[in-house]
Amino acid sequence: MGQQQSSNSSSDATSEPESAELMYVKCSVCGKWMDVKPGHLNYISHSLCKTCYDSEMRKLSQGS
Ligand SMILES: [Zn+2]
Repeated sequence: MGQQQSSNSSSDATSEPESAELMYVKCSVCGKWMDVKPGHLNYISHSLCKTCYDSEMRKLSQGS
């Protein structure tokens, strides 16, 4: 007793004011939100999550 665990402080690593602009990374296949990182404001970057990337690679290697 006596020890407080406060590990969830989001304002810990934000030393730059530009971090208010966040770029969202979304999987273009399944629509899963993958990442949020500093970047252009309200910019959504489409990418492939690991699962979809793997299945896409399998499709490509198998041919159509
Ligand atoms: Zn996906």
